[in-house]
Amino acid sequence: MAPGPCYRAPQMGPSAAVPPTEDRARCRILVEGVVQGVGFRPFVYRLAEKHRLGGSVQNGRHGVLIDAEGDRDAITRFLEELGSTAPASARTRRTTVTWATPLHDAGAFRIEPSVGDGQPTLFPASDLTVCTTCLAEMGDPGNRRHGYPFLNCTECGPRFTIIRAMPYDRERTSMASFAMCAACREEYKNPRDRRFHAEPTACPACGPRLALLDAGGRVLDVINPLQAAVAALQTGQIVALKGLGGYHLACDATSTEAVSRLRRRKARDAKPLAMMVRSLDGARQLCVVSDGEAALLQSVARPIVLLERRTSPAGQDVADGVAPRLRHLGLMLPYTPLQYLLLEGLDRPLVMTSGNRSDEPIAYQEGDAVERLGGIADLFLVHDRPIEVRCDDSVARFADGAPLVLRRARGYVPLAITLAHEAAEPILACGGELKSVFALVRGREVFLSQHLGDLGDERAYRAWTDAIAHLQRLLELTPRVVAHDLHPGYRATVYARMLDGVRHVPVQHHHAHIASCLADNGVDARVIGVAWDGTGYGTDGHVWGGEFLLADLEGFERVGSFQEVPMPGGEAAIREPWRMAAAFLHAAYGEAMDGLDLAFVQRLDRSAWRLLSRAAEQGLNAPRTSSAGRLFDAVASLLGLRDRVDFEAQAAMELEALAEPEADRVYAVNLEQIHGRTIVRTADIVRGVVEDILAGVGVDRVGSRFHATLADVTVRTCGRLREQSGLDRVALSGGVFQNIRLLRLAVDGLGRAGFQVYTHHQVPPNDGGLALGQAAIAARLREDRISL
Ligand SMILES: [Zn+2]
Ligand SMILES: [Zn+2]
Repeated sequence: MAPGPCYRAPQMGPSAAVPPTEDRARCRILVEGVVQGVGFRPFVYRLAEKHRLGGSVQNGRHGVLIDAEGDRDAITRFLEELGSTAPASARTRRTTVTWATPLHDAGAFRIEPSVGDGQPTLFPASDLTVCTTCLAEMGDPGNRRHGYPFLNCTECGPRFTIIRAMPYDRERTSMASFAMCAACREEYKNPRDRRFHAEPTACPACGPRLALLDAGGRVLDVINPLQAAVAALQTGQIVALKGLGGYHLACDATSTEAVSRLRRRKARDAKPLAMMVRSLDGARQLCVVSDGEAALLQSVARPIVLLERRTSPAGQDVADGVAPRLRHLGLMLPYTPLQYLLLEGLDRPLVMTSGNRSDEPIAYQEGDAVERLGGIADLFLVHDRPIEVRCDDSVARFADGAPLVLRRARGYVPLAITLAHEAAEPILACGGELKSVFALVRGREVFLSQHLGDLGDERAYRAWTDAIAHLQRLLELTPRVVAHDLHPGYRATVYARMLDGVRHVPVQHHHAHIASCLADNGVDARVIGVAWDGTGYGTDGHVWGGEFLLADLEGFERVGSFQEVPMPGGEAAIREPWRMAAAFLHAAYGEAMDGLDLAFVQRLDRSAWRLLSRAAEQGLNAPRTSSAGRLFDAVASLLGLRDRVDFEAQAAMELEALAEPEADRVYAVNLEQIHGRTIVRTADIVRGVVEDILAGVGVDRVGSRFHATLADVTVRTCGRLREQSGLDRVALSGGVFQNIRLLRLAVDGLGRAGFQVYTHHQVPPNDGGLALGQAAIAARLREDRISL
């Protein structure tokens, strides 16, 4: 997948002058962007040879520098092909051409050593899926790398997860400790070889090796660790696999027993588990796969793609425990040679979930992995190439004709996202608390970190601070401005406020969401922002989450929101949706709720609820919230889907997963105007749901009407705000818009009403996208508006 619209073919920079009129020409070319670690220099070398040019190419601190001399026509064609035939993983930002006087003695074209002066503007590459040529070599019994799981070339293999520093050369990667054998060195030094300067290149004679460990970390004496691991997986054992950015826990996805054992040991009760299938055909046996989804599955980033399950049984059955009660499965294709070998050996889908206990970050170092995963895995399949940077798998889905990244990590990180404007000084944007991601800004480029999990976990917090230090080192960048959320309890906020000698930019949570959506689309304009999520700290100290803003990158006005209801028991109401259902029923019916002939009311613990509601009336432990996420929770509980959740957004996911009969009507919802703000009477939605349940309308149909009602509320509120403001552009953001059922309805409805709609693609609508929004806002601020 092309990660977004910001990557374009090289353009001539401002210094390109008219080429000379003589027959011979010479030019100096600077190519900026992701051009190191993607086979760019050998590509330039071969191109120069093809056109019989003299000169040189080298890696510099700003990108790749080319000095080329030859026939004028040849130079012209060289420049054209430099743009049109570059390696697939190169991401050229800018190509600047300066014409020079021909030397008439440029000599044969050569590759020169890296130069390292001046301020760096390098772009580290992301990890690259093994290429088809390497796969063919691995499968060829006559090839010296036959069956070797660590082969790679200039166009594929590990990058971000093995780089210690830039520029990208072997000595600054975790391959530094492996001395190349004569044959590998020969390839590495030969400009015509496809492994010319392939920094992590390796072969069975000189490269990393596999080993099999038992649950206690002792090396097992087996002839073929790979085959032994395959055999263990076939018999239902759990194997921890060392991968690119950390450990996976793998087991046979078709074995109910293996899957439930993994769940039990991992203390992961209900969260869906990702799976790896051998091929696109394998994915199609389990799920319905559109062309767009197929392209996303096969893209070089190889994310986990959420795909709709086939209803009719076909191919192999997946154990129920993989994704309980959900309509989607998370599937990915292999991306390392080792994974290809494993899946070929097994020929059935594997559960491949992050190697961690519940909320901890992914394990990536042997000792740590054995200590933490020893109670989960029966065996460890490891290798001796160190992982420098931990990095989870990315998660994406295909929505509304385009990819939507839900968790941005391996394969995407650290590719930069380009802002519409330039930051005067380096910025650190700290992001949020859950699904945490931070960002560093250099000029117009935003470098987002990989997904780093929930900072409430001590290990995750340490991983987060380590990752900040590492990326700063990699980019050689010291932030002068630090942007952060308003929530005083977020660890990212506390961290930001402790930093001295920097300017602080506090950014409201939902403003950051909308700014993130703008930056995701390369837009710098004032829009109607619809920011719906579970929780975000409001400027009034309340819990916001169903917000309508008039916003741009400089500021926002809260012009509408969902009606506020109490969250009985505070945080507990997030884990126990029944509390929200009761709070909404009370908002809709008052004391008359007790008389409703609802299953929910019958199972409600009256005495517990009486205590809670009395406390809420007195304002005790019941913060007021306008959260859209809590409304989803309440409706899910009323419908009997669940009263308690094991993880954030579980109830909302199950509501989305209901069957989708045509929504024949929407519930009547009042939009009130209070102090110039539009208040959506969400209690009216709950009343509509209750009346349907009492009338015996099926759960699936209520779910459809509920989603349609929310889309309708969006269109009506935006219509009213358009009249007030004259704005006709809408940005949709916040975790609720991971729900593609709602997203599709809202985008369609707004489109029909004449709005231009922006949605997320490159970064998640959830809190994983906050850092981009904070970064865009901080980059836009003038110095006099920044608080010290
Ligand atoms: Zn390759
Ligand atoms: Zn070798």
